[in-house]
Amino acid sequence: MYQLKTTKVLRQVMKDHFLSFGKGKKTAWCTSVGPAELLRSFGFEVYFPENHGALMGATRTVIDYIPTAVKYGYSGHVCSYTTADIGAFLCKDTPLKKHYGLDGIPKPDLIVYNTNQCREVEDWFTFFADQYKCPIVGIHPPRYLDEVGKDEVDLVTKQFKRLIPFCEQVSGNKFDIDKFRDVLKLSKEATLLWQQVLQTARATPAPLSFFDGTIHMGPIVVLRGTQIAKDYYQALLHELQENVLNGIGFLKQESCRMFWDGMPIWGKLRTLADLFIQNNTAVVASTYCNSWIFDDFDEANPFESSALAYTKIFINRSEKAKVEFFRNWFELYRIDGVIFHDSKTCFNNSNAKFGLPQRLQEEMGIPTLVIEGDLCDLRFFSEGQSVTKIETFIEQIESSKYAY
Ligand code: SF4
Repeated sequence: MYQLKTTKVLRQVMKDHFLSFGKGKKTAWCTSVGPAELLRSFGFEVYFPENHGALMGATRTVIDYIPTAVKYGYSGHVCSYTTADIGAFLCKDTPLKKHYGLDGIPKPDLIVYNTNQCREVEDWFTFFADQYKCPIVGIHPPRYLDEVGKDEVDLVTKQFKRLIPFCEQVSGNKFDIDKFRDVLKLSKEATLLWQQVLQTARATPAPLSFFDGTIHMGPIVVLRGTQIAKDYYQALLHELQENVLNGIGFLKQESCRMFWDGMPIWGKLRTLADLFIQNNTAVVASTYCNSWIFDDFDEANPFESSALAYTKIFINRSEKAKVEFFRNWFELYRIDGVIFHDSKTCFNNSNAKFGLPQRLQEEMGIPTLVIEGDLCDLRFFSEGQSVTKIETFIEQIESSKYAY
């Protein structure tokens, strides 16, 4: 069975991350594509509730918590990270107890969000700000842009700068632009390594699948801006490059190369990974894993480049811009077909609701399939139906590939 040695290191890195809270440093909560570098420059430990949501999804514990959030007034049809996280809090429980021996989630001193991914994060984080009587502040960039120009960057730069007094007051530290530059430089180095890691999957056989990527992306989400993340991706890249050189991949015989759009189905990662492998299909790239590549970071212009990088992300863009992202990824990874995961509770990261798969298929001639599911709430995922759809889709691609 194909296994990456670096996975062992990953487990320790993630464990150390969770154990670092409550050791004297102040804690800031941040959205997964929020201004983590600025927060770190003030000396905060940074905690990411979405990572907690993914953990609850992967451990299939959400169903213990979502009904409690629903009783409290949150719809079961909104972001299941949000409802699981709020429900777990109301139940005074978290898988962090079992997995890392923590008493609970890290208590916030400051809560910061960026609505570049969705507005749900504002509602979600406001619940916790109220519960903890904690200051909360957000960035609200323009959304759905074809291009991100100077006007938008200037606007978001101002919003980044408005965070400074909050951070100074809560951390007790004055803003230091050199620290910000240093953290941003480290973050850029890690994000470029992550990009190289993902791009090893251009090789055949590919040494990294989308499913592996969802696990190994942990440090680029929760530790970007630290030396730890940079070291981790150097080690992972080294291992993957060696595998490419030696012709070792997760699949010996790739008959089909697939792209995954949308959220992972956290509670079914193993099932789906095995399904594709059994069908000799390599899922080699995704919108999701590519979302943490911020190649516009530039320590010479830390505010403007952060504003640009965090506003330009795929999820925050117009359909026209998204089509160009897709075009590049499909070419880069030599994609034969695309699976769109239409996630019930994440409207924002589902691109199948307004006919985009059909338009891509017509414009680029690339076969697409939509499967319905959810990031965490498995009541919205019909495994039998999805397996049948995926297997039929793969058969169709294979027969059209070898029909000549
Ligand atoms: S992008 Fe989707 S999954 Fe992520 S926080 Fe927003 S609604 Fe939830």
